[in-house]
Amino acid sequence: MGEEPYYGPDFGLLRKQDPELAQVLLDELDRQRGGLQLVASENFTSPAVLAAMGSTLTNKYAEGYPGRRYYGGCEVVDRAERLAVQRARKLFGAEHANVQPHSGASANLAAYAALLQPGDTMLAMALPHGGHLTHGSKVNFSGRWFNVVSYGVRRDTELIDYDEVRDLALRHQPKLIVCGATAYPRLIDFTVFRGIADEVGAWLLADVAHTSGLMAGGVIPSAVPHADVVTFTTHKALRGPRGGAILCTEELAAKIDRAVYPFIQGGPMMHVVAAKAVAFAEAMRPEFADYARRVIVNAQALTEALAGEGMRAVSGGTDTHLALIDLRDLDVSGAEAERRCAAAGITLNRNVIPYDPEPAAITSGIRVGTPCVTTQGMGPQELKEVGTLVTRAVRQPGRAREIGARVSALLAIHQPYLSEY
Ligand SMILES: *Cc1c(COP(=O)(O)O)cnc(C)c1O
Repeated sequence: MGEEPYYGPDFGLLRKQDPELAQVLLDELDRQRGGLQLVASENFTSPAVLAAMGSTLTNKYAEGYPGRRYYGGCEVVDRAERLAVQRARKLFGAEHANVQPHSGASANLAAYAALLQPGDTMLAMALPHGGHLTHGSKVNFSGRWFNVVSYGVRRDTELIDYDEVRDLALRHQPKLIVCGATAYPRLIDFTVFRGIADEVGAWLLADVAHTSGLMAGGVIPSAVPHADVVTFTTHKALRGPRGGAILCTEELAAKIDRAVYPFIQGGPMMHVVAAKAVAFAEAMRPEFADYARRVIVNAQALTEALAGEGMRAVSGGTDTHLALIDLRDLDVSGAEAERRCAAAGITLNRNVIPYDPEPAAITSGIRVGTPCVTTQGMGPQELKEVGTLVTRAVRQPGRAREIGARVSALLAIHQPYLSEY
């Protein structure tokens, strides 16, 4: 790439034809480049991924699977899906891959549909302890259609209580056990979950939406050898297009494929499938393994810097790309901290912490992650400074402008869509 930021294919044409909408794209690019992006579930895709997403593959209807579609003219897009499937299998060492789910939530819906009937019992992590909405929240289909039993983290260690998982599994005999989380900073022991699932004859589903990029980079243990089904998103640490995917054993392949199409989805988004193929190839490169390693080193540097300034990390630290910070000692709510950081040009999200006395709209915590800043080329030294800036922004709201100026100075040398990928 040169010095010009990447705007997308034929941005000039869009600007001429629809300046109003083109301005939205420009403003969003400015927003992404002009602030410090610490949302743990976000990243900056490569220009190659953006190019595939902005392609004419969006025009093609391709209900079905390569070689067995319900529309004519699919021979070209078939090649894109075959590449995406082959690359996903190779990247994760999986027997089977389905790359059609539109999102992580759709991937979970399909996986549940393949393994469960409405009313069946499943065991999953509670949302207020770090689980995802699709793991049985009452406001989600998962909580309405299944009998969900929830496990959580221990009060003292703030780590998953594997004894509780086993006790609940023995007591409730779930048909499916779900592991994986959206706000859990530590490694999940898939071997323990496998043992518990085997003991009660349950399927094991690992939802690694957040950590699939770290697994692809080989820097944390993979769920694939242990789980029957692995669901993930392609747009978080993995740095691909917005979407979902499912890996499974050969035994479950046909069930999973039928659950995605025709059970929960119609035509796949072939431009996104193509972009997934691009991202999987990028993730196979040695540079990506190095990226994944630096994401964790950076998260640890950030977490230490925050802890050094009185912002306690839930569970005492992180093994991954994210940290959950308990703000109760500072007497600032998560919602207020989110606002104060925004005023200083820092984007992050409020998040409930385990046993949070505050409701989800307020919370006692924030969640921070390093996939974005690492893609921008920042290292542990910069993350130490980021920790200081976040703490100042939270503690001294009156100094937001001054902190914002330091954020801008830091970003001036680390611009996404200007540096190499
Ligand atoms: C992000 C996430 C999802 C959902 O992904 P969407 O693409 O937003 O639907 C599912 N499970 C977990 C654990 C997640 O973190």
